[in-house]
Amino acid sequence: QKPADTNKAKVLKIGAEMTFPPFEFQEEGNKEYVGFDMDLAKAVAKQMGYTTEIQNIGFDGLIPALEAGNIDMIVSGMSITEERSKKIAFSKPYYKSGLSIVVKGDNNSITNFKDLEGKRIAVQIGTTGAEEARKIKDAKVREYNSNSEAYMELKAGGVDAVVNDLPVNEYYLTKSGEKNAKIVGDIMNAEEYGMAVTKKNTELVEKVNKAIDELKKNGEYEKIYVKWFGK
Ligand code: GLN
Repeated sequence: QKPADTNKAKVLKIGAEMTFPPFEFQEEGNKEYVGFDMDLAKAVAKQMGYTTEIQNIGFDGLIPALEAGNIDMIVSGMSITEERSKKIAFSKPYYKSGLSIVVKGDNNSITNFKDLEGKRIAVQIGTTGAEEARKIKDAKVREYNSNSEAYMELKAGGVDAVVNDLPVNEYYLTKSGEKNAKIVGDIMNAEEYGMAVTKKNTELVEKVNKAIDELKKNGEYEKIYVKWFGK
């Protein structure tokens, strides 16, 4: 198998976990993978002369898939962390994010991260949210394969809170039609998303960084941003 940065490779295989709207998800009745990351990944690939093939992979399976050579790049709202940077190479940041809390609309006992002590918290497996939740004193953390399952558990009353990235929590509240839920507290952990490739693929990282710069310069990044987040 040829690495994606040789001239012969035309297809860039991209992996993402698809319950992370508005970054990567499937709209009802539509098989296509859509979202900010999907548009940006396609634009970056095009800029580098590749077409894309998108694969839906569990969040905790993304780094193993990259290491196994099943995909060339992760574009999955993945926060750039020290821990992950030991294993994989991140591009420059392409989106600023951070963690936040969602509780039921009538929950008045949880107003910040401190209040999560001793509480039942739903998170997605392998995420920074899962990692932070596990640090909370006496918290009972339940890890789900998808974000949708974490939100469903909150709705069903199985947990007191969901810890997830702020833009995804916001999307859940505004777009899912869920009325009985709210975001509480300040944003915890400023995080930034990066695209990721194997450590060996330094040439590809450089190309991706250059492509991100170009898309920011030529207005394409802005167009994609406005499409998914408004002004
Ligand atoms: N940004 C978070 C992380 O990197 C969550 C990503 C996700 O669930 N897709 O862990």
